[in-house]
Amino acid sequence: MSTSHKKCQSCGMPLKRDAQGGGTNADGSKSTTYCSHCYERGKFLQPDISVQGMQTIVRRKLVEFGMPGFLTGFFTKGIPRLERWQQQAK
Ligand SMILES: [Zn+2]
Repeated sequence: MSTSHKKCQSCGMPLKRDAQGGGTNADGSKSTTYCSHCYERGKFLQPDISVQGMQTIVRRKLVEFGMPGFLTGFFTKGIPRLERWQQQAK
């Protein structure tokens, strides 16, 4: 079994909380790196999004789920350190 992550390496959502159990790779197998909201059939669902854009989306989602605003900042500040965004760094 390949290395699996606890959190989606794109949005930071805990993978065990993903209803689909993770995104899918190009060959249809489960991704252990990205969640189903970010990654499907080997492709990012929002391929051109910036890390700031992702943080905004995740914050909005968390508030929708009833999380207080100050906690969403805490939750999203780790997003730039996730694998997807590291690859884009110069
Ligand atoms: Zn994700």
